[in-house]
Amino acid sequence: MTPADLFSQHVLPTYARFPLVPVRGEGCRLWDDTGTSYLDFCTGIAVCSLGHCHPRVVEAIRDQAGKLLHVSNLYQIPQQAELAAEIITHHVRIPGKVFFSNSGAEANDGLIKSARRFGHHRPQPDGSPRFEVITFQQSFHGRTLGSMAATGQTKIQERFDPLLPGFRYLPYNDGSALAAGIRPETAAVLLEPVQGEGGVNAATPEFLRAVASVCKQHDLLFLLDEVQTGFGRCGDAMAWRWIAPEIEPDGISWAKGLGGGVPIGAFWLNDRVIDADGTCLPSLMGPGSHGSTYGGNPLVCAAALAVLQEIREKELAAHALLMEARIRKTLREWNLPVVVEVRGHGLLLGLQLDPARIPTPEGKTPALVVVTRLMERGLLVPAAGPHTLRLLPPLNVTPAEIDEALAILREVLRDF
Ligand SMILES: *Cc1c(COP(=O)(O)O)cnc(C)c1O
Repeated sequence: MTPADLFSQHVLPTYARFPLVPVRGEGCRLWDDTGTSYLDFCTGIAVCSLGHCHPRVVEAIRDQAGKLLHVSNLYQIPQQAELAAEIITHHVRIPGKVFFSNSGAEANDGLIKSARRFGHHRPQPDGSPRFEVITFQQSFHGRTLGSMAATGQTKIQERFDPLLPGFRYLPYNDGSALAAGIRPETAAVLLEPVQGEGGVNAATPEFLRAVASVCKQHDLLFLLDEVQTGFGRCGDAMAWRWIAPEIEPDGISWAKGLGGGVPIGAFWLNDRVIDADGTCLPSLMGPGSHGSTYGGNPLVCAAALAVLQEIREKELAAHALLMEARIRKTLREWNLPVVVEVRGHGLLLGLQLDPARIPTPEGKTPALVVVTRLMERGLLVPAAGPHTLRLLPPLNVTPAEIDEALAILREVLRDF
């Protein structure tokens, strides 16, 4: 039985999978079960931020696995505290507190629960709690009942209704629509600094400033989903800082690149005081309010700490900007008609394709047609929606690897 047969017989068919069977990875390269090698500009969807099997991460996992894999959050976990300190001191650089989950969706659920607590603590004038979280069209926040309800895409929500109530989706990058859209029950605004799954749409500095100012004016929590954009991916430790450095969020969620390949997510709440009696925002999530059996266990925290230290010490966020410039310059020089626009920041880039130039057999999307051809020539990239190719190389990708990938891209794209 082939691996694909085993899959279809025993695994729930929630993914339309490519037949590719990766068996080994090293840096920017993956090998499949036939020995064919690929340049990996998908990196498990922005997860393997240091490439595959980075020696520092492998060593941290080996070392921790030999000592202690897991203990309950009933006890002290020093690796968790060390990782939280690294995140706050060197990456967020605003005082706050971190909670560790196992995924991005769960991290967003944590932010949503924090917003609900905030809405009870600072209710509407009639004393009823505020509960609504405003999110944006084309957003993606995850697949749990909470994060799916927060997601502004009907295709994610189809036939799972009734959805968790308390969400409204406003147009992205439209500060006036937001200012006009606040209701008495609104408690928070949640957004991605760069929408990843929704087609690689970057927030403008004006929009992020408008969100911050509306939140201040209406006493709302300003929440950022940095699950895909965080930890160097967009050219700064945090993507919001690359776009509008002066703003200060109240909460942030992460996952993907944080663990470099181990399943870990997290959310952070700003230490700011939220009322006259000196209550700090994180104190709303006290003992018993939230939890996770696995969340932040010694193994995943040791791995994530190695990832973040490597990103910081090697200044990989700055490196991502250099590699972005290299990609953009080359694409400009080619001036291919099929590439309509290049969007995004750092090494989260979206190439908007001209669908009119791409014949689509078997009901495939234009992006999928191109993704498949690239794979046949040895380059792995994901799509972002029907018309956008996404480039997500590891943050430590070399100029030579960028050039190699671009050469494959050119060969494929010039056919259109
Ligand atoms: C991937 C993603 C999520 C969901 O993360 P999971 O780990 O798959 O639950 C949430 N938000 C954004 C912005 C993402 O890109």
